[in-house]
Amino acid sequence: MSQTITVIPGDGIGPEVTEATLTVLRAAGAELDYDMQLGGITALEQVGNPLPDETLDSIRTHRVVLKGPLTTPSGTGFRSINVAIRKEFDLFANVRPVRTIVLGGRYEDIDLVLIRENTEGLYVGVEHYIGMEGDPRAAAESVMIITRFGAERISRYAFDYAQRHGRRKVTLAHKANILKYTQGLFLEVAHQVAQGYPSIVWEDRIIDATAMQLVLDPYRFDVLVMENMFGDILSDLMAGLVGGLGFAPAGNIGDDAAMFEAVHGSAPDIAGQGIANPTSLLLSACMLLDHVGQDETARRIRAAVDRVVRSGDVRTVDLGGTVTTSEYADALVRALA
Ligand code: NAD
Repeated sequence: MSQTITVIPGDGIGPEVTEATLTVLRAAGAELDYDMQLGGITALEQVGNPLPDETLDSIRTHRVVLKGPLTTPSGTGFRSINVAIRKEFDLFANVRPVRTIVLGGRYEDIDLVLIRENTEGLYVGVEHYIGMEGDPRAAAESVMIITRFGAERISRYAFDYAQRHGRRKVTLAHKANILKYTQGLFLEVAHQVAQGYPSIVWEDRIIDATAMQLVLDPYRFDVLVMENMFGDILSDLMAGLVGGLGFAPAGNIGDDAAMFEAVHGSAPDIAGQGIANPTSLLLSACMLLDHVGQDETARRIRAAVDRVVRSGDVRTVDLGGTVTTSEYADALVRALA
């Protein structure tokens, strides 16, 4: 039976990579129906609200979302719609797998998964200016919030994920040496949770050393778990290990809703040119297919991506190629046959 999902094409390159992704999903015979909805700057311009009620209602109904990137103004303007959706539906686990697709890079056979806590940390948005001596913005303060509940459920999610996917090791990356309360609580709780999974190797590492080790010797890692901002930063670093943001998918998972999106943003510098690499959103759609029990379709799409990218003839501009987004999608459709 076909499943209806909410699709938010989003801003910048979003509509281009979404169209390419839907082309491949349809060609692969994914049993999905698409409820197209607005979000981000596009929604602000068209209906005066970056997160319209219709979009929220669609998500409430269907509980599974494929989302293109949304532009978030820096410094001023509305708060991130991505963060708002994650909060509204309590999508607490951000799952970001990276896998080598383009051969001939610095490393071969990278296969890592970063699991980022998605609702707490510094991204709770508790921040304000402090006025002093006539300057209303003399200082600014952000609050990092870590709860025992949040640390426990993300740690448990990481260990359960490792167990479900036959992974051998979980690494917690933290900064408990400096942030003794917030990061210290996360470390303490993760350590307790680890005791319930004796078959999985468990370690904790300081975040800065983890960043260096990921670059020097990524093979020592398997599943990594960390708080919100550390996960945001390290997942981009990990995308760099496998050829950049064009190949980095993500799933935001909650107990009763899930949203799948590319790790990259709306790429305003290349928007509208038809040259964006849609692989990241397409691989996010593969995670979505796994999530709704259509694993076989996901496997066929991933295999087509591997074949096309590794052939070396059909590559988008970010990979040094010359093909357009739609030419690349057409090549994937042919590779599915
Ligand atoms: P970005 O990821 O949009 O772009 C960084 C660089 O990577 C740019 O040079 C861009 O051209 C390139 N790039 C990104 N995706 C690509 C693709 N699919 N194919 C080819 N090249 C690609 O990051 P940014 O410029 O820092 O952010 C732009 C906007 O996106 C900001 O408003 C930011 O807030 C937003 N953003 C949204 C999300 C999201 O919706 N999940 C994530 C990150 C950033």
